[in-house]
Amino acid sequence: MKAVRLYGANDLRYEKVEKPAAPPGGLLVKVKACAICGSDVRNVAAGGSAHGFTLPRTIGHEIAGVIAEVGEGVQGYRVGQRVILGVVIFCGRCPYCLSGHQNQCEDKEAISYQYDGGFADYVAAPEILVRQGGVLTIPEGLDFPTAAITEPFSCALNGQELSRVGLGDTVVVIGAGPVGNMHAMLARAEGAARVIMAELMPERLAKAKEIGAADIFVDSGREDLKEVVMQATGGRGADVVIVAAPSGQAQLQAIGIAAKRGRVNFFGGLPKGRSEITLDSNVIHYRELFVHGTSDSTPIHMKKILDLMAAGRLDAERLVTKVLPLSKYREGFELARSGAALKVILAPEA
Ligand SMILES: [Zn+2]
Ligand SMILES: [Zn+2]
Repeated sequence: MKAVRLYGANDLRYEKVEKPAAPPGGLLVKVKACAICGSDVRNVAAGGSAHGFTLPRTIGHEIAGVIAEVGEGVQGYRVGQRVILGVVIFCGRCPYCLSGHQNQCEDKEAISYQYDGGFADYVAAPEILVRQGGVLTIPEGLDFPTAAITEPFSCALNGQELSRVGLGDTVVVIGAGPVGNMHAMLARAEGAARVIMAELMPERLAKAKEIGAADIFVDSGREDLKEVVMQATGGRGADVVIVAAPSGQAQLQAIGIAAKRGRVNFFGGLPKGRSEITLDSNVIHYRELFVHGTSDSTPIHMKKILDLMAAGRLDAERLVTKVLPLSKYREGFELARSGAALKVILAPEA
């Protein structure tokens, strides 16, 4: 079979590899769609130096496909079943796993990092992933490219649960990339009164307007976000501000536009070596702000997203800008990197 494998910094190769078999207790999945994630783009640039990569490695972790083989001893799955795969493989025993926060597991691994991923004709789901509920059925009516973006959506949902987005809230999303748009869609589904989206890149902003997941769009290069937010909220500020952009400046801005008792979510990480910011912590103190981060998601978040997408509560298919054959992975990565596309999907030809 064919696979896209990472060998080192900017060294990605489309090559023939041996087709895996279903591991005992696991599954073999015929990949139908695998979405390119911002982290894939970063990992390719860095040569997988972070997160304990072992190279070469087949990357790609936003995976949808069909079960091709059921491993020995597996119950509850059958050949032909349409599924998505979770990413995080967790220990199940540490205090975080026991409290349902498996994304913070003390001993976690991940598909496409320590296990081969989905930019391939087939991917093996290890036993541990199957046992953890990390292989989920795609509801009827959802196509593979849309189902493939469940994982990033589930990370956004985890973030919004932590930010307690609720009925009547004013939610600001800084960053109109794929995840920013997901946040806007989720905020609406959760009953936000209005969603304000800000973006620096005009091209991205135009795309976001086309999708229409927010009520007010702000061109951060030309408009003053704070002014817009204050005007929309009668000078109160936003109940929730989500920073879905790798920018310390945006994080500071977020704190400055939050209402008293507002929640500020540093959803996007900052580039290594540039992750320090200086702020007036009295603003957090006197205004009783809740500033927090988010990372990854758990299987229940994925399940909820699949259900919401199938019920038509999220316009997820609108985020899929391009589906390319796996062999055109270079074009796909270029598109994802340029910001000219939202989600780019690679689909094996075979
Ligand atoms: Zn991802
Ligand atoms: Zn754990």
